[in-house]
Amino acid sequence: MGIRIFYIFAILYAVISGLGLINYELSAPYIYLFLFAVLAYYIAYVSFRKIELVHTVIAGVAANLSVQLTGGLSSPLFFLYFLTFPLIGFRDSSRNYWIASLTIIGIELCSGLIVRRVQMLPIAFLIIAVLVIGYIIDSMRRRESGITRSLLRYEARDQFFAPVTYGSDKLMTSVGEIDRHKGIERPLLYFVKFIHNVFNANTTAIFTRNEDRIVLVQGFSHSELFVPETVVETQSGLYRRAITDRTSILIKEYAQSPDELGYYRGAVQVNSVMMAPVVLIDEVVGVLVMDKKIGSFHEKDKAVFDEAANTAGFLLAMLRLYEKARYDVQHLSSIAELAEKLHRRLDLQEILSDTIQAFKHFMPCDDISIAKVDEFDDSGEVLVSTYIKENTRFSLNDGLVGFVARHKNSIIKDDLTKGNLVTFKKEVKTSNASFVGVPIQQDDEILGVIWLEDHQRRKFNEDDVRVLNILSYQLSLAWQRATLYDKVKELSIRDGLTDLYNHRHFQETLEAKLKKVDELVLVLLDIDHFKKINDTYGHQAGDKVLKFLGRLISQIGIAARYGGEEFAIIIPKCSLKKGMDKAVRMKDQLLKSEIGVDQTKIKFTVSIGIAHYPSDAESRVELIEKADRALYTAKEQGRDRIIIAQTMKER
Ligand code: GH3
Ligand code: MG
Ligand code: MG
Repeated sequence: MGIRIFYIFAILYAVISGLGLINYELSAPYIYLFLFAVLAYYIAYVSFRKIELVHTVIAGVAANLSVQLTGGLSSPLFFLYFLTFPLIGFRDSSRNYWIASLTIIGIELCSGLIVRRVQMLPIAFLIIAVLVIGYIIDSMRRRESGITRSLLRYEARDQFFAPVTYGSDKLMTSVGEIDRHKGIERPLLYFVKFIHNVFNANTTAIFTRNEDRIVLVQGFSHSELFVPETVVETQSGLYRRAITDRTSILIKEYAQSPDELGYYRGAVQVNSVMMAPVVLIDEVVGVLVMDKKIGSFHEKDKAVFDEAANTAGFLLAMLRLYEKARYDVQHLSSIAELAEKLHRRLDLQEILSDTIQAFKHFMPCDDISIAKVDEFDDSGEVLVSTYIKENTRFSLNDGLVGFVARHKNSIIKDDLTKGNLVTFKKEVKTSNASFVGVPIQQDDEILGVIWLEDHQRRKFNEDDVRVLNILSYQLSLAWQRATLYDKVKELSIRDGLTDLYNHRHFQETLEAKLKKVDELVLVLLDIDHFKKINDTYGHQAGDKVLKFLGRLISQIGIAARYGGEEFAIIIPKCSLKKGMDKAVRMKDQLLKSEIGVDQTKIKFTVSIGIAHYPSDAESRVELIEKADRALYTAKEQGRDRIIIAQTMKER
């Protein structure tokens, strides 16, 4: 609020002063007004800290006012006018300084013109002061921004090496920029241009070597027939000499066809050629080559050229490092993303399909497959694959996948056609040429194998294996967790002795089945005089009986251990008649059976109650109650019999 008053005051004053209406020769008490004006500026400064254009203008106007009120040109404060104003101005931006300066000069000029007393001296003084101070401000500012810039560069470098602690948008942009402009290849271009000019060549080119061929990575030429995307076979010719003999070559009078150089598409005049192998730690990683159209290279050029080839070697090494770092950063972040996803999953099938999906994205290749492995059985089974049918079984002795599993070691094959290598099974044909497989294992236990294939030869390298291994480890963790979860889930629904479903799961299953099917038979079964079996032959024998009966009743439906020696069987989609028949057959079979315990043979009988849905009951509770009552009746009527709830009829 306060500041706005000063602002309005300043504008009003600027207008009045501009119109030349201020009377110069006022008396000394107006010195207080000056103090007031300075106060205005001070308040503006303190309130805003960062002074904006408006504050600069206010302060300028305030200073101007104080001068005019205390005697105009002859005021002892006159110099303050020139000092206060720029001092305030340069706290802000130099642009604001200039705007404010010109405003004040404008006011002065207006005022002078209107009262027709143009006093050139103060105005000229003002303009010169503004220009001089402006110049000083600008040069200070430029120096400051120079420092700021180098500080930023420093920061960016730090951020580059410690991306975790910083990670600012600024850095991301600069890295993006490097990528966009292939910035890392730029030093190579500068270098090529530099030596190109030093030797006054027609064309200068750096090739990198890939076995029997070299690929042009950076070149510079005056010829329009120069081909930047050159690939040259190096089995013969000049390049072979440079690479295999590791010698630099100087040809003063070149008589061959320039076709030999490989980088011209057409006849170009070549008079002299220099070529040197680019060596990096004992390995020829490329070739540096240069030709001249007119005149020739000299003997003394060769030494310098060799040094240039050495430098090129370092530049190429840096390029490689950069590529490797970029590869790592990209892949590690993809893996981290995938790992996070996998760790939220509990279903193996989902885990595997997530993995395949992620792979398609960050390690593109023609085929990817994952198989589980049974080490003791020497066999495996494909769980998911882009070209093999799921659940295809294979022997660990057959192919590369088996080899990976048996040796628990990753392998890369560059060319499957050499030596007729089988990826995992002879019967499954593929035209793929490259293979990389890594084991999926926890400690020493192998769970499976993940492998990639591609029709291109030499598709995969050691870096891929490294990434695959990290991924495989993440996968193994998720895999184990999923398996463990399945086991625990299975345990929680099964009875430990008979391996039948337990009481709780029986209830859940019955409820679920009732919702799904039109009819269903429930059989409840209790062993007759089981206590006697326990008492006579011992508890162990009793257990054996329970297990035996468990296996028997599993054959006729979904069997569960209902209680101690009571069992329940759900027979879904079954009429009462059919259910009854099944129970009868089962009971007949039991009558014929005997269980050997030590030297004796145990025979036993059961009582059975049967109820049918929906004819006997409409709900789970009611159905169980009906079957239970039928079972009770069977017991009451003397055991060893089947009673149907509907009729309560003895069979
Ligand atoms: P009934 O013909 O009336 O059914 O007589 P029963 O002796 O079979 O019936 P009761 O319910 O009185 O006895 C069941 C016995 O089953 C009691 C218990 O010791 C035995 N039992 C329960 N669970 C187990 C088990 O897991 N193993 C063994 N061996 N015995 C068990
Ligand atoms: Mg019993
Ligand atoms: Mg009982």
